Amino acid sequence: MNSDSSPIAAIATAPGRGGIGVVRVSGAELTPLITALFPNVTLQARHATYLPFLDADGSVIDQGLALYFKAPHSYTGQDVLELQGHGGPVVLQMLLARCLEAGKEMGVRLAQPGEFTQRAFLNDKLDLAQAEAVADLIEASTEAAVKSASQSLSGAFSKVIHELVDQVVQLRMLVEATLDFPEEEIDFLEKSDARGQLSRIQLALKKVLDQASQGAMLRDGLNVVLAGQPNVGKSSLLNALAGDDIAIVTPIAGTTRDKVVETIHIEGVPLNVIDTAGIRDSLNEDAIDVVERIGIQRTWTEVAKADVILHLMDASRGPTREDELITERFSPDIPVIRVWNKIDLSGHQAAVDVLPDAIHIYLSAHEHIGIDLLRAQLLKIAGWEQTGESLYLARERHLHALHLASDHLDNAAYHAEQTDQALDLFAEELRLTQDSLNSITGAFSSDDLLGVIFSRFCIGK
Ligand code: GDP
Ligand code: ZN
Repeated sequence: MNSDSSPIAAIATAPGRGGIGVVRVSGAELTPLITALFPNVTLQARHATYLPFLDADGSVIDQGLALYFKAPHSYTGQDVLELQGHGGPVVLQMLLARCLEAGKEMGVRLAQPGEFTQRAFLNDKLDLAQAEAVADLIEASTEAAVKSASQSLSGAFSKVIHELVDQVVQLRMLVEATLDFPEEEIDFLEKSDARGQLSRIQLALKKVLDQASQGAMLRDGLNVVLAGQPNVGKSSLLNALAGDDIAIVTPIAGTTRDKVVETIHIEGVPLNVIDTAGIRDSLNEDAIDVVERIGIQRTWTEVAKADVILHLMDASRGPTREDELITERFSPDIPVIRVWNKIDLSGHQAAVDVLPDAIHIYLSAHEHIGIDLLRAQLLKIAGWEQTGESLYLARERHLHALHLASDHLDNAAYHAEQTDQALDLFAEELRLTQDSLNSITGAFSSDDLLGVIFSRFCIGK
């Protein structure tokens, strides 16, 4: 696959003012551009050259460093020229305009968003997962997210995917070789330890999936929805978790009508905590005015999208019929923490009580008692574990592919268990596993498989 070779240029640093700013150009062959920009200078590849950046009329725009990377030894795999000038928006615009003008005859144009990285992918400098990690690293909002994005960018994630694919290919190779010799099928699974190989792959995949799921949590955060009746202390709890006043806390029931979200970080995991309008009178919806009813409807919409629901109740009042009705409407698939607030009034101790129906936590939002217990439980219920192992800042797309691969391996295992041992189906499921995994790195390698088979087996067998 070859990338579009028309030269592209863009300001590579963030808009605004800074010490330095960079204009970057990438193209198959940038020598004519360099000659036009710096007629009397030879830029040595990978060396920084300090020089004046001249406008077409010879006047000096700025002084700075020119860096030249000769293809294929560059970020994009093409010739790359970087001009590092002073980081002012107008200076950089002028430098960019100068590059476009000097490169007009060569067809230098403005780069599309992500086009440098896209070229890096098309020129095999990065695979798909790594290219995605570039964007994730730039967007990372916590240190933990930075570390795991770097991990993916370095290729560590791609490497484990390749290793899995290799194992699947090995097994497929065995199975497909046997398919041509039906009389050998019977004890093939025994002889080759195919089941053993399969379960080792399943185990390895599960580990990757765990690490990727944890990483995905760092990337996207968790949606934690505060739900409960008016006045139980939802907004107070949001404030207590966030540590400052962002929601309006008032003693009048039904004040929080618009959605309030605050992103907090616990051990580097971003949690989007969503405050909602209090739910009441599920028994008698006619008794509520239109505005409040809309608020309550929105609450249920948020609750349906939650990763974790915090169901707040007033400990000084105890459980009510209304709370029961609210609980009944929660989806059984979404974890719920039952939070008993206002223990300063009820006299309970701050505590976590794991009961069959749910985890119960006793705390006081107003007095900041027991908030740490809740923070710890939130991470736990979200499935966050500090494994000490490297995490991959995976995307939903990667998780989906890993889950799909896992399902196909399960199917393969199922076929292996059947008495008639449908080896062709077994092989087919392995092929689908391989395709799913390859979609992560963007490598589609049905030809690879043939290559492996032909290189390992002599035709005459
Ligand atoms: P919301 O309607 O569920 O969002 O409840 P708010 O957070 O607005 O709180 C309603 C009232 O309960 C306010 O007067 C708060 O000061 C009070 N409140 C909230 N948490 C506590 C608590 O832990 N102890 C006590 N004593 N009062 C609280
Ligand atoms: Zn509120």
